[in-house]
Amino acid sequence: VIKIENLKKNYNDTEVLKGVSLDINRGEVIVILGPSGCGKSTLLRCINGLEEFQHGTIKFNGEVMGTKDTQWYLLRQKIGMVFQSYELFPHMTILDNIMLGPLKSQKRDKDDVKAQAKGLLKRVGLEHRANSFPRELSGGQKQRVAIVRALCMNPEIILFDEVTAALDPEMVREVLDVILELSNQGMTMAIVTHEMKFAEAVADRIIFIDDGVIVEENTPKEFFKNPKTNRAKDFLNIFN
Ligand code: ATP
Ligand code: MG
Repeated sequence: VIKIENLKKNYNDTEVLKGVSLDINRGEVIVILGPSGCGKSTLLRCINGLEEFQHGTIKFNGEVMGTKDTQWYLLRQKIGMVFQSYELFPHMTILDNIMLGPLKSQKRDKDDVKAQAKGLLKRVGLEHRANSFPRELSGGQKQRVAIVRALCMNPEIILFDEVTAALDPEMVREVLDVILELSNQGMTMAIVTHEMKFAEAVADRIIFIDDGVIVEENTPKEFFKNPKTNRAKDFLNIFN
């Protein structure tokens, strides 16, 4: 689905991504790990077209992104993203928040979208909150709504950037369970997280980034049991 080749990105004169190459295959779940500031969010934002980059290419289904002809609005419908801060519109109900993208940017039929939105809400256990406003929901509930909103666009891949980092511990599980279920259903996903147990359970492949480069790439089993590099060992020690 995604093919990244030798991606380099700087902010002013600081190079943040220093030549990242990475493929994400259909149905695959990759988890991106690495210390704070190593470039994880920047990488996801480049994939989603939220950041320009100076060097390299990103292809989506074989097509190069970031040329003059790239239709970002079409692309962002295919590449969903969920952030740490849920980014729901406070003045709109949960259902309206979810239906906004499919109606406004995809111009889909309202009854179809509503049926899909309600079905998705049910899947995350929130069908009874369709007419609530975001402020009436807990953090974990809001984050499940944000995931439903991304899903309702029928994306081909979803990017998750530390979606549980702002949640109280008791709400982390309910959000991670939704993501686990998506992985069981074959959703293609790239996940940045600091939840190591979850990373091990959900990932097909772990990508460990340090200082703007991919230092290690391995199956979760191998990565957690037998990290190849000292940098990965040091990183994992923080969590033990
Ligand atoms: P964290 O785990 O803390 O979220 P991260 O791996 O996601 O870290 P990034 O947010 O990608 O790291 O940031 C990588 C580097 O780029 C950091 O040194 C950061 O200070 C810098 N950076 C990020 N965004 C900007 C920006 N808009 N302008 C200038 N520098 C930035
Ligand atoms: Mg980040």
